[in-house]
Amino acid sequence: MEIFTFNDLLYHFPYRYIDRTKIVKIRDVNEFTDDVQVSGTITDINLIGQKWSKRLEATLFDGSQTLTLVWFQGVSWLQKMIVPGQKYLVYGSPGFFNGQLQMAHPEIELLTAVQQGPRGYMEPVYPSTEKLKARGMGGRQLARLTEALWAMLKPDNIQEVLPEYIINGLHYPQRFEAFRQIHFPHNEALKNKAVERLKFEELFFSQFKLQQTRNLRHRFSKGVVFEKVGDLFLQFYEKYLPFELTNAQKRVIKELRVDTGSGKQMNRLLQGDVGSGKTIVALLMMLLAIDNGYQACLMAPTEILARQHFESITTLVKELPVTVKLLTGSTRVKERRPLLEELENGTLHILVGTHAVLEDPVIFKKLGLVIIDEQHRFGVAQRARLWKKAQVPPHVLVMTATPIPRTLAMTFYGDLDYSVIDEMPKGRQPITTVHRYENKRSEVLHFVKSEIDSGRQAYVVFPLIDESEKSDLENLMRGYEIVKTYFPEPLYYISMVHGKQPAAQKDTNMQRFAKNDTQVLVGTTVIEVGINVPNATVMVIENADRFGLSQLHQLRGRVGRGADKSYCILLTSSKVSADARERLKILTQSNNGFVIAEKDLELRGPGQIEGTRQSGIINFKLANIKEDRALLEKAVLFITDILKTDSDLLQLQHQPLKQHLQGIEKGSWGKIS
Ligand code: ADP
Ligand code: MG
Repeated sequence: MEIFTFNDLLYHFPYRYIDRTKIVKIRDVNEFTDDVQVSGTITDINLIGQKWSKRLEATLFDGSQTLTLVWFQGVSWLQKMIVPGQKYLVYGSPGFFNGQLQMAHPEIELLTAVQQGPRGYMEPVYPSTEKLKARGMGGRQLARLTEALWAMLKPDNIQEVLPEYIINGLHYPQRFEAFRQIHFPHNEALKNKAVERLKFEELFFSQFKLQQTRNLRHRFSKGVVFEKVGDLFLQFYEKYLPFELTNAQKRVIKELRVDTGSGKQMNRLLQGDVGSGKTIVALLMMLLAIDNGYQACLMAPTEILARQHFESITTLVKELPVTVKLLTGSTRVKERRPLLEELENGTLHILVGTHAVLEDPVIFKKLGLVIIDEQHRFGVAQRARLWKKAQVPPHVLVMTATPIPRTLAMTFYGDLDYSVIDEMPKGRQPITTVHRYENKRSEVLHFVKSEIDSGRQAYVVFPLIDESEKSDLENLMRGYEIVKTYFPEPLYYISMVHGKQPAAQKDTNMQRFAKNDTQVLVGTTVIEVGINVPNATVMVIENADRFGLSQLHQLRGRVGRGADKSYCILLTSSKVSADARERLKILTQSNNGFVIAEKDLELRGPGQIEGTRQSGIINFKLANIKEDRALLEKAVLFITDILKTDSDLLQLQHQPLKQHLQGIEKGSWGKIS
């Protein structure tokens, strides 16, 4: 069980308690009551049934009512032990059988003169394993070990780590007391307070390290300085900006300019809903880097997305003296060689690419800014390889369109500064989203046809959760055939993309759709990330109940990118669960990614939130991001205060805290710099 030391045992918390601190009146017990303790006199005891199906029934009377106790095992022994007329303590789970209230296999013990009442504390039950249980080390036996430990422990053994003023301010028990109350609570209220304190402590220290990293970076890191706004930035801004920036975009650029001018390394997370216009912000910052004599690099998670960024950036800067090149896994040696040369001698200004840009032969002359789009597909280690590509670490901007609720963002990216584009460009029409059962598929496809006949394009998406799942692929093929009967060649053309295709084929199919050579794109979620085809106005999602909320929102974000009214149609079978119906309803009611992410967290918990699944950071022992958000926020407030007033933890009152931090072994925190 990974329990090697007393400390491990201390941190092995009970998952439930047997509350024998209270005695409940039988009158107040019913079949819905959890485990309870009752006490009374045995008035009657009988062995019932044949040899092989014997059971022992006893009647317990406590002055309020009677309760039948039943045993099926160990009956002869029990019959000898239980004496009618004596008083007993009985503990078990009441149920309703044969038309009466019963307690099957209760624990029963004689109320002796010494022990004339309930125990002083709730008895802990610890998680154990089947194997250990078989060896007689089940949850309650583990409690014997903990008891033995506590018989030896003195308050000095568990020293306080939080500052006194926090403990007092939040009315928390001291640390020693908190551990004691979580293992052997005197009552429910004390237990709850202890649990809260230990959760707070857990959140506090996990956040402390992140916030401290950020604080240290703000104070001590070295960063290249983009001191001036030069010609490229200004020319582009004045002459070539294709639209007016939203206020949110302007605000974010200001924030980024402060960072990049500060002399410290920027590490910033930029969140903005799908279509909120992060790319143009990225481009303006890259121009600023070039203005200041640096190169910039934009990394995307997929080849398709990298190519799209490359193409849109090339178009945007075509009147400016800026060089842009694309590097992906499929870039040919013939192109690769000159590209690497130009990168090294500094004539190439902007490199757009996939993880191929991380490879060792990719050497920059003067890398000043790295932008990572949709970062959750990049591991921390991969990111770290980038900063090694420059003497002074480049500024880093992590962009994501996967909205993460504030609390989660805090937990995962606590060491990053945070910017948000919370405003959509003007003139966007909200996407109309509806939920339809699949018996309406033909009407849906007729609607799609009417859109296509007026010049628009459409996506039809199938779940392919597990790319190796054969049935999913068959499902997609069948779907493709159905769509084809509605959209026959040569009137219409269809592209199909899925993860099983060779990259080149997938790419060609996607490109044909992007160029409007095909009107319908049938595919799996490989189309999810970032692709931009403003002429597409309909998104049909098959088996929509099999997708998570955030993913559905991402998919929906593929339409509504132009001036035309767009639609998202969620198809499911009529047998969809109440949960799924609820999820889909949220989507039909809101177009706001942040609202949806909050709901997603509420409904499914943090483990499911897109992009956080692989992360171990949410593996708290006690705390739960979903339920303990207020506590997390409280902890961060205290931390911010401490770092503001005593960043080096020199004050006397922060010494225990400092020592504890030093004691915590360095874990694998989501660290960027
Ligand atoms: P995302 O934030 O999802 O990456 P993009 O940067 O791809 O969004 O922008 C989505 C679309 O909105 C693009 O076609 C882009 O040209 C357009 N766009 C971005 N900012 C504005 C703006 N301020 N006004 C109008 N259109 C904009
Ligand atoms: Mg984008």
